[in-house]
Amino acid sequence: MKLKDKVAIVTGAGSGIGAATARLFAAEGARVVLVDRDAEGLRKVSGEIAGSLAIEADVSDNAQAHDGVALVMKQWGRIDVLMTAAGISLGGTVDTIDEATWDRTFAVNVKGSYLWIHHAIKPMIVAKSGTIVTVGSQLAQSSIGRNAAYIASKGAIASFTKTIAVDHAAQGIRINALMPGVIDTPMPARSLQRQADPEASRAFWRQRHPMGRIGQPEEVAKAALFLASDDSSFVTGTLLFVDGGWTAH
Ligand code: NAP
Repeated sequence: MKLKDKVAIVTGAGSGIGAATARLFAAEGARVVLVDRDAEGLRKVSGEIAGSLAIEADVSDNAQAHDGVALVMKQWGRIDVLMTAAGISLGGTVDTIDEATWDRTFAVNVKGSYLWIHHAIKPMIVAKSGTIVTVGSQLAQSSIGRNAAYIASKGAIASFTKTIAVDHAAQGIRINALMPGVIDTPMPARSLQRQADPEASRAFWRQRHPMGRIGQPEEVAKAALFLASDDSSFVTGTLLFVDGGWTAH
């Protein structure tokens, strides 16, 4: 087992990529902490993972991040892995996105990652070990437009991941970003609902990946396991695209 006895926090664990990753980390022996604002999703996923700890929290709230990390330390005394998968995607072009949408997108996607890393990295620094996996998007490198705040936030995640990887490499902490393509979760399903012709958009997404399909959350979870475990022992500050070839052309 690749994460035996490790303590792993996953934000956004109530759905999609975060939920699939939490399940895989648990199957690989980790004690898993599930963080999400969606109480129902949390209940469902924590019910599937024996011994998991569920924390209902808004990742953009500093006090909740502080208290969540403190609870994990009180309960298990260590944090070995953090994956920051909580995110929102609200659509829009720069002329139509209002200030509240821009601020909320950055609050969840960027500040939410910063806050959980800010608090969880402290015990990792003391332990001189740990792995952190952030979640960007293939769109940060190869945009198809109409989602300006989201795509900018994912570009910020890519830069943030690289610079903190440099800062903390000497402390034994490795930090990498996953850059998924379109993955079959509620997030793109909600985006489709905003499209004039959802079926045409779905077909476009499929063929935009050279592999001719969209990805499954379990396929991203396997890449997360690679980055979280010793299998990636000489990998830090990298952007790992799990995108069926989207960014290759
Ligand atoms: P998802 O199924 O919507 O899961 C995201 C989870 O995060 C949901 O449970 C959501 O709760 C939660 N969340 C949102 N805002 C939160 C907040 N402020 N505090 C705590 N939890 C919050 O989406 P997903 O597809 O798994 O996405 C996971 C990550 O992958 C995101 O960062 C996303 O940007 C990234 N990503 C996804 C794709 C894709 O095609 N699916 C592609 C590239 C990157 P609610 O349901 O209540 O919002």
